Amino acid sequence: MQPPINANGQGSTVRGACPHDCPDTCALLTTVQDGRAIRVQGNPAHRHTDGALCTKVSRYTERSYHPDRILTPLRRTGPKGSGQFTPVSWDEALDEIASRLKPIAARDPQAILPYSYAGTMGLVQSEGMAARFFHRLGASHLERTICATAGGEGLVHTLGGKVGMKVEHFAESKLILIWGSNSIGSNLHFWRVAQQAKRDGARLVCIDPRRTETADKCHEHIALLPGTDAALALALMHELIVNDWLDHDYIARHTLGWERLRERALQWPPERAAQVCGVPVEQIRRLARDYGTTKPAAIRLNYGMQRVRGGGNAVRAIACLPALVGAWRDRAGGLLLSASGFFPIRRQALHRPDLLAGRTPRTINMVTIGDDLLREASPTFGPKIEALIVYDSNPVAVAPESGKVVQGFAREDLFTVVLEHFQTDTADYADIILPATTQLEHWDIHASYGHTDVLLNRPAIAPVGQARPNTEVFRALAARMGFDDPCFADDDLSLCRSAFGDAVDFEQLLDQGYATLPIPDAPFADGGFPTASGKCEFFSERLARQGMDGLPDHLPNHEPAGSDPRHPLAMISPPARNFLNSSFVNVKSLRDIEGEPLLEIHAHDAQPRGIADGQLVRVFNDRGEYRCKARISERARPGVVNGLGIWWRKLGPSGTNVNEVTSQRLTDLGNGPVFYDCLVEVSACA
Ligand code: SF4
Repeated sequence: MQPPINANGQGSTVRGACPHDCPDTCALLTTVQDGRAIRVQGNPAHRHTDGALCTKVSRYTERSYHPDRILTPLRRTGPKGSGQFTPVSWDEALDEIASRLKPIAARDPQAILPYSYAGTMGLVQSEGMAARFFHRLGASHLERTICATAGGEGLVHTLGGKVGMKVEHFAESKLILIWGSNSIGSNLHFWRVAQQAKRDGARLVCIDPRRTETADKCHEHIALLPGTDAALALALMHELIVNDWLDHDYIARHTLGWERLRERALQWPPERAAQVCGVPVEQIRRLARDYGTTKPAAIRLNYGMQRVRGGGNAVRAIACLPALVGAWRDRAGGLLLSASGFFPIRRQALHRPDLLAGRTPRTINMVTIGDDLLREASPTFGPKIEALIVYDSNPVAVAPESGKVVQGFAREDLFTVVLEHFQTDTADYADIILPATTQLEHWDIHASYGHTDVLLNRPAIAPVGQARPNTEVFRALAARMGFDDPCFADDDLSLCRSAFGDAVDFEQLLDQGYATLPIPDAPFADGGFPTASGKCEFFSERLARQGMDGLPDHLPNHEPAGSDPRHPLAMISPPARNFLNSSFVNVKSLRDIEGEPLLEIHAHDAQPRGIADGQLVRVFNDRGEYRCKARISERARPGVVNGLGIWWRKLGPSGTNVNEVTSQRLTDLGNGPVFYDCLVEVSACA
């Protein structure tokens, strides 16, 4: 480990980066005394962090030194799922893993599946060494879709990449649409910028089925039905057209497919959209007027709204709006869903797909892990999944239709390894658990999807217990599998260096912890979108060539509200404010704030069902059921219930969580999940 920087008599301060799946990617300062981290704070010198962390990560030391941290490798001793394990040495654990994987790999390495997501966003500890290992092995590919691919593809097919406004310039916007985002809970540093704009006279409009804490603080809240965002966007276009609130010059010079989009949008008068979205027609008209006549106008889109069947189309429709009014001309106008496409990450150098040596393994979508773990071998599927190596993810809690996921993980003939900090719901089903380091204990390097700075994370403390970084685990496994390619000897600092190569000044990263990418303030003021045409593509030839609609449209949910009398309520499952996906659920101080799993339900829906506030309820559909407390609240709109997530199953009232009822169906673009496209019924428990 490199020595901490800024040593002084009072201990030392080490610069790092928040590893969590959050657009803010904060710069951390960890104070270390006598080898122990005593405080984690936001770095005041980093303009996006501005010295502030969210409640979750400001308690990071509580997480790192949590009494439940897994400190040694563990081997299962009881039935799968029982959580019974005994400590073993690293050598025993690694030898056993290699001895189990070798015969499977000899038969067909595609029977081995990695399963990982954004438990850390670090480029090194996520896939830096892991991808090399799985490529060399020839394991099945994992399609990492569980969060953002529908929206990402929507952006790619419209703007050409995951690109957009620079977050700091929202401070100068005069109208901000906060669309599908509870920014106070999940994009705190953007919210600080939006507050600045509000103080300077900007109007803030929140578009979200749930009346979130963010909606409370905006000037207006538009509580549309889940999965109807494209209809709203098309109606806004309709109004922009009929009122001629358009920037004709920008459209002519920097867009593609205007006439066709115009024709499509004219099919969406506000009256039609109002009916589909379940909002008053006047609200749509007012929003269109505000958007068409306020300059600069900006949209902060987030990923919640794209977790429905038509999520990709919805993002396409919304991403067309700024070009129609010429909002991109101003640095404080445009749209931001993700900035990650700006980062010149050298993924080939990190992941080394050349190690596949011409093999083309099948791909398994992480969203359908429930079904896929239960499939037998077949010519279309390929070999049955015999081994699963899980890192940076907790699929038993977070993957949809968890009844099937649990059934799959419980298979006695499945060999499962889990790299983890804690004994999560997934770790309970492992054959071997390997203790992983936290962000305070390893090197990493980070891009961001909410700003345009690269951050370096230095280890602040030695690994707790016998924990090891993911990279070290995959290096050791590679050695035991007999992989002697030189790339498995790369150390973590070298991996950090190679992530961006010469595109980022690594000395600056070592020196100050972050480096800003040279992105123009208004990157599309004069067009120059990273599409094939260089224009904002209202019509996508690429989609049309694939047999899809080249224009954005409203695609009704797989399970539209009102379509099933047995399950009349639409359910969304946004994160509880103090959790981040399933991370932090076991941090007691945060769990104490959240209390217990809750379902927000409007009085209009609770009263006819005889549901009282605080009562235990059963939430169910044909996929399954879970139990939680009902909170009668205006945060839920009539007809929609909010099942706050994502609680660990074992901490819920009946050992289940909200994903018992979500489905494994996929989005229109990007093969993403449809967590918010889900019909349920709710009944009071006796
Ligand atoms: S979770 Fe987000 S807001 Fe919280 S510290 Fe990490 S990056 Fe910052």
